[in-house]
Amino acid sequence: MSIFEDNNRRLADISRLEGISEAEMSVLSRPVQTKYTELEIGGQKYPAWRIVYNRALGPGKGGIRFHPEVSEDEVKSLAFWMALKNSLADIPYGGAKGGVKFNPKEAGREELELVSRAYIRAFHEHLGENKDVPAPDVYTNAQIMAWMLDEFEKINGRHEPGMITGKPLEIGGLALRGDATAQGGYLIVKEMAGEFLKGRQNKDIKIAIQGFGNAGLFMTEKLFADGYTVIAASDSQGAVYNENGLNITELIALKNSGQSVGGYSGGGKISNGELLELKTDILILAALENQITKDNAPRIQARYLVELANGPISYEADLILENDKKIIVPDILANSGGVIVSYFEWAQNKTGQILDEEYLRTLLKKKMKTNWQRVYGKYLEKEKKITLRQAAYILAIRKILAAEKWRGRNTKK
Ligand code: NAD
Repeated sequence: MSIFEDNNRRLADISRLEGISEAEMSVLSRPVQTKYTELEIGGQKYPAWRIVYNRALGPGKGGIRFHPEVSEDEVKSLAFWMALKNSLADIPYGGAKGGVKFNPKEAGREELELVSRAYIRAFHEHLGENKDVPAPDVYTNAQIMAWMLDEFEKINGRHEPGMITGKPLEIGGLALRGDATAQGGYLIVKEMAGEFLKGRQNKDIKIAIQGFGNAGLFMTEKLFADGYTVIAASDSQGAVYNENGLNITELIALKNSGQSVGGYSGGGKISNGELLELKTDILILAALENQITKDNAPRIQARYLVELANGPISYEADLILENDKKIIVPDILANSGGVIVSYFEWAQNKTGQILDEEYLRTLLKKKMKTNWQRVYGKYLEKEKKITLRQAAYILAIRKILAAEKWRGRNTKK
């Protein structure tokens, strides 16, 4: 089952729950624009995509991923989740995503720059601050955004920093963007624990985390600083476990020295698969899609799962976990901090105003809290007979469909 087919099954469930006709929902069953090409660099060909899923709420918005497993199915799914995430977060964007299929870990700096610039030459006509605005995703970063902006501005002969977010500070980025996804996710974990784990002290709450990159590492740092007991962590090379808690400051220092968390001596080595199945209160998924499927879902022991990554739980796994009374905080809520801060960056670039960092920090906090309350409120309104994911999907989808209707583009019943 492809990830995208999973999404259509989730949409069909929302149609049924909310009485939204298939015809009305059909606007969300496929992207509005799919661009594909092969980037030719030094005799090599790299498949590359930019997909806009929906534009009813504003320009396309979503990151660019460099990864050897990138596929059209994946980019399309990521674009779909961006459309829902932006709608749920109440920011004026449609959804989009991009990707290049290659392994950046095997590429030198020069090759990375060539791929980044070639991507913009291939897709520049479809990008722009009012058309479609990329950002970083897995294995892309501020340096890559800077090369992409530079290439775009060279082609167009004018400055347009709002065409891309997640830039370095010196060319229009925001200090807040670096750990924004983690900060947003951390705030959501606090809200979730406030509702579901009331009365328990942070140190008595055990957390395991899959993925120790931009999203996962900073999130773990915040949870550790707040006194939670982080018992396990993994990256693509390995995993480490200590039932009494890991010293996250040491683990981050090890990771920053270029080693895998699996090599940390303050705990025992376990496999990446074992980490997912540990006895823990909260399992944070911060790596990639489809990490929990129907095969391992029956063995998941964590009661609470937080999707910091996009799409880490398959549709079939969702059904199993729901049946086992697990609570899943969905990706489109948990990882929306990154795109919310991207929106601040874009707004600052477009208006030329300089916004106070403390003010933006407060605004992010407020937005995450409001978004949690709206999702949790919908879940209560439905007497907890739906999942948090379904609550979030209902809110996001209803807003997109209303915008489509106002625009006169989707009047079908
Ligand atoms: P990243 O490249 O910085 O980190 C990914 C991490 O996952 C790395 O530590 C990698 O080693 C690890 N990993 C990969 N495969 C693994 C596996 N099988 N088991 C354990 N660890 C594995 O990427 P990121 O930016 O942190 O993104 C992670 C997820 O969060 C993605 O799904 C991404 O779409 C999502 N996300 C990121 C942001 C953001 O602002 N960075 C925003 C929203 C969503």
